[in-house]
Amino acid sequence: MPTESHASTSAIRVALPVPLFRLYSYDCDSLPAIGARVRVPFGNRQLIGICMGPDTDPDPAIKRKPVSAVLDEANCWTEPLWRLLVWAADYYQHPPGEVLQHALPALLRQGDAAGYQTTVHYEVTEQGRTVELDSLKRAPQQQRLLAALRRQSLLRRDIVSEDYSLSALKALQDKDLVAAVEHQPDLQQWQFSIDAEPLTLNPEQAMAVAAIGAAKQPQTYLIDGVTGSGKTEVYLQAMADVLRRGRQVLVLVPEIGLTPQTLRRFKKRFNVPIVMLHSALTDRERLDAWLDAKQGHAAIVIGTRSAIFTPCQRLGMIIVDEEHDNSLKQQEGFRYHARDLAVLRGHEEQVPVLLGSATPSLESLNNAMQKRYAWLRLTKRAGNAKKAQHVILDIKSLPLKAGLSQPLIKLIQAELEQQNQVLLFLNRRGYAPALLCHECGWLATCERCDAPYTLHQHNRLLQCHHCGSQQRVQTQCHDCGSTQLVGRGVGTEQLESTLAELFPEYPVLRIDRDTTRRKGSLQQHLEDARDSKYPLLVGTQMLAKGHHFPNVTLVALLDVDGALFSADFRAAERLGQLFTQVAGRSGRASKPGTVVLQTHHPDHELIQDLVNNGYHHFAASALTERELTQLPPYGQMALFRADDIQADTAMAALQTIARHFPQRDDVTVLGPLPAIMEKRAGRYRYQLIVQCHQRALRTQLLRHVLPQLEQLPELRRVRWSLDVDPQDFT
Ligand code: ADP
Ligand code: ZN
Ligand code: ZN
Repeated sequence: MPTESHASTSAIRVALPVPLFRLYSYDCDSLPAIGARVRVPFGNRQLIGICMGPDTDPDPAIKRKPVSAVLDEANCWTEPLWRLLVWAADYYQHPPGEVLQHALPALLRQGDAAGYQTTVHYEVTEQGRTVELDSLKRAPQQQRLLAALRRQSLLRRDIVSEDYSLSALKALQDKDLVAAVEHQPDLQQWQFSIDAEPLTLNPEQAMAVAAIGAAKQPQTYLIDGVTGSGKTEVYLQAMADVLRRGRQVLVLVPEIGLTPQTLRRFKKRFNVPIVMLHSALTDRERLDAWLDAKQGHAAIVIGTRSAIFTPCQRLGMIIVDEEHDNSLKQQEGFRYHARDLAVLRGHEEQVPVLLGSATPSLESLNNAMQKRYAWLRLTKRAGNAKKAQHVILDIKSLPLKAGLSQPLIKLIQAELEQQNQVLLFLNRRGYAPALLCHECGWLATCERCDAPYTLHQHNRLLQCHHCGSQQRVQTQCHDCGSTQLVGRGVGTEQLESTLAELFPEYPVLRIDRDTTRRKGSLQQHLEDARDSKYPLLVGTQMLAKGHHFPNVTLVALLDVDGALFSADFRAAERLGQLFTQVAGRSGRASKPGTVVLQTHHPDHELIQDLVNNGYHHFAASALTERELTQLPPYGQMALFRADDIQADTAMAALQTIARHFPQRDDVTVLGPLPAIMEKRAGRYRYQLIVQCHQRALRTQLLRHVLPQLEQLPELRRVRWSLDVDPQDFT
């Protein structure tokens, strides 16, 4: 470790993993690299912090403690990534120590060495090779082990599993007959080669790939292509160029478990090392993958949102697939948007960024319209697939059977008879979203939340989907004692059993959080769905993301009316994306598809626009509306949240925060207002919205206000947080 002693000590500034903006000053014999980890005393603990540079203005009145150890010789990240992290802490106004910790693998956060795991082999020494085996006659265990080690060196793991004893190993080491030898993994520079032949591109794809390849300056591209238009093929061919030059590609996907097909295509196409940063990795595996990326041993790095913080020595391109997807936004702690950071990282690294979606976010569409992004449109489905036919089904005053109208049941029947697959989409799991007393109207509600319990029939439980609390299904009404308790509304569990009754000869597969809890079960279900073992598919949101079900010819959305009247200004955009994405699951191969939308509001402007004119027309009108109301992307929002077991306390905290913002024409402060779900898990939740026209002004205000808030004792007693560019108001 590089802790050379110098004659004089210097003061350094350290970012610590504490929820405070300030940096801490420590003494150090020599100046560590900026971005290097240091271990320092903090109170009566030792913490791992990051060196932010020399303290050029140390307070002479404060007695600084010395750094206990310097853990890295150099910055933990690459230069461009470091600049991004420093920028992000400022932009999101989040304590720098927490931001930096978030961007490190767990083992590095805990102070482990930033190196590969070395494996220890046991080998015979010179003496061990020549000694007479018979001399160990009285220690048969040792004799056997020594004989084995003469044949080949072994790992400790081998020794245990081969039934040698560790005490025999120790004895042989003590006698200098055996020695432990450390091995580093063998890392070689990869050579680019293509395994599978690329497809012949259609003209739109070819133009897109050519545009990316021909660019003089790296920039951001919006690959705006309808479902099945071959966006992935565009990524693959654009990547090939980058990989050929020996540079790395970083790919962000919404959820690794949900995109096995895409991943398989990457692996099949390129014969280069790929690392995947998925949630099943152990801490050790994650660190090794991180090092592979950082040192350039991995050619392709694939991960979910936090992978945006993976350092890559020779980064050549960043791809964000499904850029509209909400999972790219971190909603807890350090709240960032991985897509936005990807664009900035591309700028810092001077590499192109590809944002792909069939339903781009309004933010990205606006950027494309303003020519900040190059807009590459793929309007045709690759291969022969035709665009699906869209149908609005007015269910006003129609009898419903588990949410299914008679006309829809007929359509399903017809498709099944043709040996086709049908996908029914209902974004509510469980049997029924509420349990109601038929005699007096009493509703079983969660005491900790403002929400009814969901009835789960198979395990006879009432579950709250907001706080996770659950109880056995009651048999009697709480208020009137009646035993006539009935489920109200329909969830996927009920839909599944009703379908089984209606179509007994056609197996049903349900895919939701309840049926995919077991590890690997989601992948299995998705494969079964694709293999058309199940003519009837029922699913929640999970099924809306990038899967190909080539035999599905009918897709129906059973109930989306809630989104039409939501208090969340993004609800319409989300419905548009959901409808278009789900519709894209239908008729992907040679069979034409139909998409049915059941609604009680067939004349609703939004539904009409979406179904008749398509997502882009709808998005353009939504953008006009946002501009009129100065909502994002035209206005810049910052959302303060506070919650407490006392409503007044949460509200008062936000009032205090509100008072710190200046009253001026170009700043709007709204609230405190109750969150869309006012009470959750026993806590009352309030929000305060700060809105500015200019992003720079917002940053400036927050930079000024946040350090003041940190000083206020009355805010220390309340749980509050700041969300810059919030996505969620529930
Ligand atoms: P997207 O990512 O836009 O939904 P994909 O890249 O998954 O679309 O492509 C959809 C299907 O079309 C895939 O089966 C893919 O192999 C096929 N495909 C893509 N591009 C071409 C092409 N140029 N020629 C033939 N088939 C193609
Ligand atoms: Zn009752
Ligand atoms: Zn609850």
